Amino acid sequence: MGFFSTLGDIFQILKNVFRQIFKRPFTYFYPFEDRDYPERTRGRHIHVRENCTACKQCVRACPVVAISIDTADQKYEKDAALYFDYTRCIFCGLCVQACRFEALYHTKVVDISEGEREDLLYGPDKITTLDREPLEWRGRRFR
Ligand code: SF4
Ligand code: SF4
Repeated sequence: MGFFSTLGDIFQILKNVFRQIFKRPFTYFYPFEDRDYPERTRGRHIHVRENCTACKQCVRACPVVAISIDTADQKYEKDAALYFDYTRCIFCGLCVQACRFEALYHTKVVDISEGEREDLLYGPDKITTLDREPLEWRGRRFR
């Protein structure tokens, strides 16, 4: 191996090192930074109660019996309260497809893990809003 060939190799290595240093990393600094999720992401649901007609089509469509409905709990003219059990949900999207009244959507929120199983039962207070408590980690608050 000649002197110039070795020099060329060193130059190539340095070039790659500098390119990597100034390139954005492929990973994200999660949870402080989140990626852009595709439009059709099937994250946790949101229930738009003012559009709901309590038709129960979403409940019937669910293959894992993850949705229950309380028709006695009425906030608007025809709606009902929905309860989502995220210990059962497989995010198949059939309930959203079944809703003909633009009352049920997926969101792009996919990180819904909890310390307790009971906290994965989303009642009307949680399923109708995307608001959530900011999380704390090592004294820092985020989201
Ligand atoms: S996404 Fe699928 S599994 Fe989850 S509640 Fe809707 S129908 Fe049921
Ligand atoms: S969310 Fe949609 S499918 Fe489910 S009860 Fe309400 S209107 Fe019917």
